[in-house]
Amino acid sequence: MSDAKIRLFVDAHLTPDAAVPLTPDQAHYLFAVMRLTVGAAVLLFNGRDGEWRAEVAHAAKKAGMLVCTAQTRPLQLPPDLWLLFAPIKKARTDFIVEKATELGAARIMPVQTRFTNADRIRHDKLCAHALEAAEQCGGTFVPEVAELAPLEKVLANWPADRRILWADESLVGARASLETAAPGPWAILIGPEGGFSEPERERLRAMPQVLPISLGPRILRADTAAVSALTLWQSTLGDW
Ligand code: SAH
Repeated sequence: MSDAKIRLFVDAHLTPDAAVPLTPDQAHYLFAVMRLTVGAAVLLFNGRDGEWRAEVAHAAKKAGMLVCTAQTRPLQLPPDLWLLFAPIKKARTDFIVEKATELGAARIMPVQTRFTNADRIRHDKLCAHALEAAEQCGGTFVPEVAELAPLEKVLANWPADRRILWADESLVGARASLETAAPGPWAILIGPEGGFSEPERERLRAMPQVLPISLGPRILRADTAAVSALTLWQSTLGDW
């Protein structure tokens, strides 16, 4: 165990003795809120170099410098799993991004479907949520959050070798089964509160990569469906 309790995401390269400058917000958090002083230890990660122990070398009100001492954990990448979901109300969308990061998605892709109510997302805010979730869950990787894109367009450019686990509400009541599924690149697709439209269903059914599944006998809200599908996939094909 490290003597450091606080984990921070930084942009800088993390190598032995690397000097890591702090943003004004980070300096405020470490020195004004958490009351750290010179010599105190923190844990750093940048999504590329694993997790590092670092010590405060310089502490000022709105600036500061840390120096890396040693790597505490190597980079741990999540499985090659994307989460596609139709954005819903703000707090629930934030929840989906946070949980997808914790549960181990490599890429988070908000998609606009026929019955999606939101026509824009706060992309910068969602990226910040992913980052905060990674800071808190001990992750060394931060999933990329893509810009909102129409589902149609995303499917038109879909990679031939990436399978799609389609949470299909019309299968409600059937048993969830990933028995026939093989490991490899995957994506999970979750629809909006209004579900999928008939043309969308036809499009999905026509794709050989798509595996429709039920998430049980009850209709779940989209945020619950996202967490359930990620859990199901991770426990069968992922790194759990
Ligand atoms: N309004 C729709 C339900 C949408 S629920 C209806 O009444 O039919 C939001 C999304 O969660 C769905 O599009 C689907 O992707 C997923 N979902 C919810 N419950 C599910 C279930 N039991 N099986 C499979 N997918 C489900």
